Amino acid sequence: MQQDHIIFDLIKKERTRQESGLELIASENFVSQQVLDAMGTVLTNKYAEGLPGKRYYGGCEVVDEIETLAIDRIRELFGAEWANVQPHSGAQANAAVMLALLKPGDKILGFDLSHGGHLTHGSPVNFSGKLYQPAFYGVDKNTGRIDWDEVGRIAAREKPKLIICGASAYSRDWNYKQLREIADTNQALLMADIAHPAGFIARKILEDPLKYCHVVTTTTHKTLRGPRGGLIMMGKDFENPFGLKTPKGKIRMMSSLLDSGVFPGTQGGPLEHVIAAKAVAFQEALSDDFLKYIRQVQKNARKMAEQFMKKGYKIISDGTDNHLMLIDLRSRDLNGKQAEDALIRADITINKNMVPFDDKSPFVTSGMRLGTAAVTTRGLLEDDMIKIVELIDQVLSNIDREGLILDVKKEVNDWMSQYPLFK
Ligand SMILES: *Cc1c(COP(=O)(O)O)cnc(C)c1O
Repeated sequence: MQQDHIIFDLIKKERTRQESGLELIASENFVSQQVLDAMGTVLTNKYAEGLPGKRYYGGCEVVDEIETLAIDRIRELFGAEWANVQPHSGAQANAAVMLALLKPGDKILGFDLSHGGHLTHGSPVNFSGKLYQPAFYGVDKNTGRIDWDEVGRIAAREKPKLIICGASAYSRDWNYKQLREIADTNQALLMADIAHPAGFIARKILEDPLKYCHVVTTTTHKTLRGPRGGLIMMGKDFENPFGLKTPKGKIRMMSSLLDSGVFPGTQGGPLEHVIAAKAVAFQEALSDDFLKYIRQVQKNARKMAEQFMKKGYKIISDGTDNHLMLIDLRSRDLNGKQAEDALIRADITINKNMVPFDDKSPFVTSGMRLGTAAVTTRGLLEDDMIKIVELIDQVLSNIDREGLILDVKKEVNDWMSQYPLFK
């Protein structure tokens, strides 16, 4: 067969794009060569519906070993009692949990998308807002932080079946302990979606949701630095606190309900090549190198936030506990779209993002979101954050000066050529 030059040339082009630019999208990262290698393997050929030892297809002896290792490693990494590593993505993990634990029409309470939440936490354009009845909490207008007592008042009023915590653009840690008290008071289940801060939580740098939440979901490709994918975990709540029943009326263990939420509930065959890559990434995340890495991600984010504030940029909540920050550009007379468009011309990738109480549409927005997970993988340290903020500020202060933006682009490309990404 002839090689598909069209596609492979495009892949080469994307590789060059990733190597030559400054990657500041908060949800992105760069996987190691062995994670990449595991994904591009013959495991993609194998059907393995079901779970290790309980498959609907023959010939699963090898993938059973791989998936069991992935489960063992993630349990060790997070101190989880139970895990399902099959969700194809973070959104799929959330869909599986909701299908398993809720009935259509049940009320859910999540963090407002326009304040930094995620589509799958009840947005009207997503399954979660169409199948379930959503209610939301947000941040305090003055502090930019979630007021946990206020969440308690909203929960008491709304009486949700499920409370969801976690976000895509919230730079502060979560009070899982108080959220669990709120959930218990209101007879609700509590789910944490740690898609963004998973790498910090794994290494105990941020609060541990597994101690308090009935269920924890995450992606594997953000701060956890694995392949694109999702997973579901439980800390200790194996019991079924509300007597949730199967369609046939039998009371089941939560773990077994959640397994069925993934398959046959929302997915077919698992991606065993991705599960192998997840297992590799989990092993990496257990290493001393990863601990050093994730600490540096946090140091870099703090440095970056501090530098932006020094230059007069408004950071929501005035700082960060994790890898990301949300910047309100209104004081600079810029919107998110203008910032994103100007920065990409300098090979600096960020994303435009709604800020709390935004007066612009999601296509324009008043803010931008940045994160340090990818540039830290690349090898950049605190002093480099000073330079990054300098370059971004030059572009944003001169968005109509094409010559200047081209100079910044050249500087970015020269700089990044000193940090090779791929072998
Ligand atoms: C990124 C993210 C997801 C979705 O992950 P996908 O893999 O893109 O489906 C879910 N929840 C939160 C909070 C996220 O940030």
